[in-house]
Amino acid sequence: MTHPDFSFLIQLYENMDSAYDRVADQYGFLCDGCLDNCCTSLFFHHTFIEKAFLIQGFSTMTDPCRKEVRNKADDYVRQTFARDTAGQSLKLMCPLNHRGRCILYSYRPMICRLHGLPHELHPPGRGVIRGPGCDAGHFDTRAYIPFDRTPFYTELAALERQFREQQHLTGRLRQTIAQMLLDPGI
Ligand code: SF4
Repeated sequence: MTHPDFSFLIQLYENMDSAYDRVADQYGFLCDGCLDNCCTSLFFHHTFIEKAFLIQGFSTMTDPCRKEVRNKADDYVRQTFARDTAGQSLKLMCPLNHRGRCILYSYRPMICRLHGLPHELHPPGRGVIRGPGCDAGHFDTRAYIPFDRTPFYTELAALERQFREQQHLTGRLRQTIAQMLLDPGI
């Protein structure tokens, strides 16, 4: 892999985090230790650039930590994909979550950063998509504070296009965090 430049992705993540924090503050919403932890949701990730960045973060961990995480990832994958490649959501904890905290927090992908708040998305050529926010927030849909994910998705798509060109990547990606950790190549 050609040595990737993640500076634009890092800047985009910072922009997401500050937009999220601004809206969360207005709701008085604090994402901290709820029982319905979104790190137990079955999420698939689709961008090579985010995977490469996450794997870079993983490489900074000590060997024993990486081994422990890989063991958890192995369990996660074996249980989730026991029946088919579609995977079943068993509400298993992400292997990167240790005692309620993400151990690669600054490397976590977009969906981990944006999850939770009520939001809107304006896909080109389609109607607006609205998300109600997580159950833990008890958000009142009548008091919606605008949180448009579209610019973040658009910018990430552009960065992904550039990354694919630079790295000569083709094909699709559809992996959980656990699968990425067990299959770190791109
Ligand atoms: S990468 Fe981190 S924030 Fe995302 S699901 Fe895993 S533990 Fe949670």
